[in-house]
Amino acid sequence: MATLLSFDFLTELTLISSQSDSADKFVREINYLFSKYYNFDGLKVFIYNKEEDYIYDFSKNRQLLSQEEAYFKNIINNTNAYSADDFFKFLHLNGKTFDFSSKKEIEIIKNSKINIILNIDNKTTALLEFSTQYRTDLMPNDISYLEIASGQIASFIKLYLDKRSLIREIDHHEITRELLTHLEKRLSFNKIGCILGEMLDKFLTDNLVYIFTKAQNNQHKLIWPKNCIIPNIYNTLSSINNRYQILKEKNIGIFMIKVSDSISFYIVVYDKGTKILTDDIKYLAQISAQLELAMQKSYIHAKKIKEANIDSLTNLNNRRAFDNKLSELLEKALNSNMPLSFLLLDIDYFKNINDKYGHLVGDKVLTEVANIIKGQIRSNDFAARYGGEEFAIILPDTSIDEVIVIAERIRKSIETTKFYYQQDKYLTSSISIGISSTDNNCKSTRVLIEKADNALYDAKHSGRNTIKL
Ligand code: GH3
Ligand code: MG
Ligand code: MG
Repeated sequence: MATLLSFDFLTELTLISSQSDSADKFVREINYLFSKYYNFDGLKVFIYNKEEDYIYDFSKNRQLLSQEEAYFKNIINNTNAYSADDFFKFLHLNGKTFDFSSKKEIEIIKNSKINIILNIDNKTTALLEFSTQYRTDLMPNDISYLEIASGQIASFIKLYLDKRSLIREIDHHEITRELLTHLEKRLSFNKIGCILGEMLDKFLTDNLVYIFTKAQNNQHKLIWPKNCIIPNIYNTLSSINNRYQILKEKNIGIFMIKVSDSISFYIVVYDKGTKILTDDIKYLAQISAQLELAMQKSYIHAKKIKEANIDSLTNLNNRRAFDNKLSELLEKALNSNMPLSFLLLDIDYFKNINDKYGHLVGDKVLTEVANIIKGQIRSNDFAARYGGEEFAIILPDTSIDEVIVIAERIRKSIETTKFYYQQDKYLTSSISIGISSTDNNCKSTRVLIEKADNALYDAKHSGRNTIKL
């Protein structure tokens, strides 16, 4: 059979190599070219990664089924025995391997498969697979062209793989950078966990990604996405104590982000059919290590701010936090023309409690009163320990009529509480409350506090355990 080959074949091949921007497009066009000039068809390109002992379809970027994989590994292992230099190219046909340099005619049995094996670099081999429907032989001339073409295809694959690994490297830096910006913006850790899940899901297209947390109670909880299909994942998570761990079958990777003794996050990567790639493990280990450092810093910073603003006995906001908050909330209220009300509360005869039951019991009563106050207000109200046994509550969007009801409710619940100081012994107490409000024409923090303070004084002088405006 006369050769169909010409320089046109190589020219077209060069054009395809320089113009293809995806592996898929490249394989499609090469397939067309080979069917036109060689009567070969059904081209598939496979990439074998020696380090990971892993074969995938170049154009689809998908790992092979185990049967296909075994078939190709067998061919590769056979040709490896022949390969003396780094740039070997072999043709494999019907169980026989042919060296291109032999330039001998090769007989082809109809409907068989021709494999060309190309060394891409020291850890990568490519396999081209063609079906032959119509050819019966390959002449020395055909083989020469095929050898040159194979070289070109090998360099396209090499360039493409290098580019892809560069893009992955960039992607991984972008993920880290974006997460750090979210941390700076003080998004909650759980929210950042969800964003991390979404980004990794796009980054690791072949794997399923899950984000778990471990909260105070040592229980693991899935925070992204909604369901996890890995069997027994909670047991697995409980047994993790390394920074990251790849489970035996290599298809589950767990990367821990330990923010503090009580807060941890886990990136769980799952590959249903195959195993997780070494490169991906490297990236995930880097991402989780960097995120861990940044989250730890952010956690310590937030903790310091919190400590500076929280009263250690009652866990309420302290005076310092109160001073900042009052002007902030009052300004908001005045700007938006919404009412804001204010309460000053002082425990009645508290000195007597200390004197009669001791300071520790006094502390306990203070803490319990603080808890009662917390339980009686809304989440956007702001309660603080104002001084010794005095408390203050700022109530945004609350009219004077509404605050009277709230104050009365607080007074009542203190009055009716049994403060146990021993298992079966309790004392009772009461509180006096002074009320002021922007409804009452208090338009500055000074006037607001002064009015409430005067009202509190009134309450004390009219017999205590009462509320006054
Ligand atoms: P009144 O009804 O007029 O408010 O009488 P009172 O005894 O509550 O008022 P006074 O201001 O004379 O006493 C407040 C007491 O609160 C004095 C102080 O020793 C006590 N105290 C302040 N801070 C603490 C604290 O952290 N723990 C304890 N146990 N006592 C405290
Ligand atoms: Mg007092
Ligand atoms: Mg008092």
